[in-house]
Amino acid sequence: MPHLASNLNNHFNERLSELGPSKIRAFDQKVSTIPGIIKLTIGEPDLNTPDHIKQAAVDDILANDSHYAPQSGKPELRQAVSSYLKRSLDLNYDPNSEICISVGATGALNDVFMSILNPGDKIIVPTPVWALYFQLIKVTGAIPVQVDTSKDGFILTPEHLQKVIDQQGPIKAIILTDPSNPTGRVYSKQQLLGLSQVIEKNNLISVSDEIYGELVYGNNKHHSLSQFIPDRNILISGLSKAYAMTGWRLGYIAGPQEVMKNIIKMNAFLVTSVTDNVQAAAIEALNNGHEDPIKARSIYADRLEFMKTGLEKIGFEMSTPQGAFYIFAKIPDQFGNDDETFANELAKKARVGVTPGRYFGTGGQGYVRMSYASSKENLKESLRRITNFVENLNN
Ligand code: PMP
Repeated sequence: MPHLASNLNNHFNERLSELGPSKIRAFDQKVSTIPGIIKLTIGEPDLNTPDHIKQAAVDDILANDSHYAPQSGKPELRQAVSSYLKRSLDLNYDPNSEICISVGATGALNDVFMSILNPGDKIIVPTPVWALYFQLIKVTGAIPVQVDTSKDGFILTPEHLQKVIDQQGPIKAIILTDPSNPTGRVYSKQQLLGLSQVIEKNNLISVSDEIYGELVYGNNKHHSLSQFIPDRNILISGLSKAYAMTGWRLGYIAGPQEVMKNIIKMNAFLVTSVTDNVQAAAIEALNNGHEDPIKARSIYADRLEFMKTGLEKIGFEMSTPQGAFYIFAKIPDQFGNDDETFANELAKKARVGVTPGRYFGTGGQGYVRMSYASSKENLKESLRRITNFVENLNN
């Protein structure tokens, strides 16, 4: 028999009660019940964690490394993160005071939002965006200010940012996802420089979610706001995407010492410390797994090319995807702006699951997100099904 809570309606966190569950997950669950469906709804690598990383965790368990780690993370891991950020982005972070290990990028985001936001504070969220930000921000009592970037190819321009600050101020912070989920867009150095100047001029604190930083394709290159405003940017990343380690839950935060002092304090309150053997695996990944993201990148780049070419051939329009593992495509004209109907019909009639763009905030209406973190066979078959579906629309 389940335990039914009686008379406890007023005993919950009010802000939590106001928040719904993730629409992206709900939609995914709904289409999962369709027999034979191929799901391009999932934002997680289909690849396996490399063996040498798994072995490091096994060795660590057998060596009885099973005690509380330091609250900001094992010193060797903080050093490995610091070295990684130096060699990949030429950033300089002191492993002793400017880096904190958390439970996935999600845990890192929670640490950061809980540390910098007060009820009523406004934080700019360029959209379409990974929607969990909204929940994490609202639960602190702060207010996400959505800024629709769809008119500028899903890139927030400095002029647009300044306009929003002028109209909606005072603003405390901004979060930038680069590379972007769901659009796959990547900011150029010049674009980040422009944004950093507006951020500085208006005394904002910035949070850059760079969880897809290793997954950038073609001639595009990943840069970081921290290269321009290291004294006011908080960098978030982790191992989930580039090393196919979503279930391990390992993320990190790097930022200026004064800010990190508070974040490390919050991380200790929220999680005490991250699981020992997971940290051992992360040390191995960052110190000895330099080839792993390169291999992953070449697999995803090939899939992207395949999907993009195939989709464009049958008339889908998209702002060129440059990173992460998503294509954000405009739906066929027959559906107008109704991405939910399109996604439902595609799931029912063609047995391909894609995520309605409106679930990612303003500017997402009329688009769907397709994840190519799926096997080439699945992608080939889904493209065949989508092609049939679209051809039938036109007949
Ligand atoms: N940020 C973005 C933009 C994401 O897309 C995701 C995962 N979908 C995360 C953070 C969460 O990463 P993690 O699994 O490391 O918590």
